[in-house]
Amino acid sequence: MADAMRVAMNDAVNRSAAKTVTGWPVSEAAAGAILTIDLGAVRENYRRLKARLGGVACAGVVKANGYGLGAAQVAAALIREGCDIFFVALLTEGVALRKTIGTGPDIYVLNGLPPGSEPEAVAAGLCAVINSGAQLKAWRAAAHDAGRRLPAAIQVDSGMSRLGLAPTEVAALGGDSSAFDGIDVKYVMSHLACADEPRHPANEQQRLAFERLRAMLPEAPASLANSSGIFLGPSYQHDLARPGAALYGINPTPGEPNPMLPVVWLQAKVAQTRRVEKGAGIGYGHSYHADAPLGLATISFGYADGWLRRSASAGWFEGVRLPFLGRVSMDSIILDISALPPGRLREGDLVELLGPSQSVDDAAGHAGTIGYEILASFGPRFHRRYVGG
Ligand SMILES: *Cc1c(COP(=O)(O)O)cnc(C)c1O
Repeated sequence: MADAMRVAMNDAVNRSAAKTVTGWPVSEAAAGAILTIDLGAVRENYRRLKARLGGVACAGVVKANGYGLGAAQVAAALIREGCDIFFVALLTEGVALRKTIGTGPDIYVLNGLPPGSEPEAVAAGLCAVINSGAQLKAWRAAAHDAGRRLPAAIQVDSGMSRLGLAPTEVAALGGDSSAFDGIDVKYVMSHLACADEPRHPANEQQRLAFERLRAMLPEAPASLANSSGIFLGPSYQHDLARPGAALYGINPTPGEPNPMLPVVWLQAKVAQTRRVEKGAGIGYGHSYHADAPLGLATISFGYADGWLRRSASAGWFEGVRLPFLGRVSMDSIILDISALPPGRLREGDLVELLGPSQSVDDAAGHAGTIGYEILASFGPRFHRRYVGG
């Protein structure tokens, strides 16, 4: 990551990124925190997944603004690796992505199209993910209106109970030869509930249910694996994998060494430093009292930036751990800097919150959550710097 930091940032890319996320660019000098996104690492992670997949195709999942890191930038980086299939969650995300990447790559809308929105999806050249009989009917009608076949992935519920056609619906549609008229069935897909627990029996149950269900549908390439699903082995990989998290450096094999490169480096600026006497109350609610004279630093970063209030953690400066003291505020956090020589840390210095000293998965572990939530919670106030693109 340090190497990546030395790569000159691309001002134009960064400005457009900041606009996408916040509506206004946040300059590095003005920002309270700096989020560095290593697109070179995203590309390397894609290559590593491709290597695991042998000849199986690999899409890029860029929902929720590319897991908080910038869907437009991530998609552009993946396109340079030859990726030409993307998944978003919502129609609005698909429309925005189409504008930035242009025509060419396929964009699938995982959550399905809200009733009545089909013309918008057609206009943006998006592929529907069909999750219900009603959605299938609406997409068929849209194809009729458009006067051409429309592309779709048919999603079946193989046992997660979240999205997709129920087994009874699949059976009914399988017996109706005209059900898919006007639909170009690109994929039959499903999603695994427990892929990050390789020994969970639900994985094999879902895989078998998926095979049974897709045998009832029009013959089409199949897609089941998310990031962790890729690591369950070839029988889960089918014709197309749909990784998200692993591209962004989150460990797809929890409990084992992370096979992915880290992608984000998050640094917050020191807004002020001070010394306090033994007994001083620190932060809201005085939830902490100094048990000795302490050096403190307040950083411009808080729960409004996505750092969960309940998560105890620490920042790092030149490899020294600086524990959070007291409660996380909306815009600030107080750190114990007593481990540093007096005067070493000054206003404007950058404290590392995510990076070589603390991975996204480490931070998630402290917060009792998953790396996905850490990334997707990032607020709009960071200066975003893209490197390695
Ligand atoms: C989010 C999502 C993915 C990507 O999952 P990761 O665990 O981030 O790799 C794939 N498929 C579906 C249906 C999803 O909702």
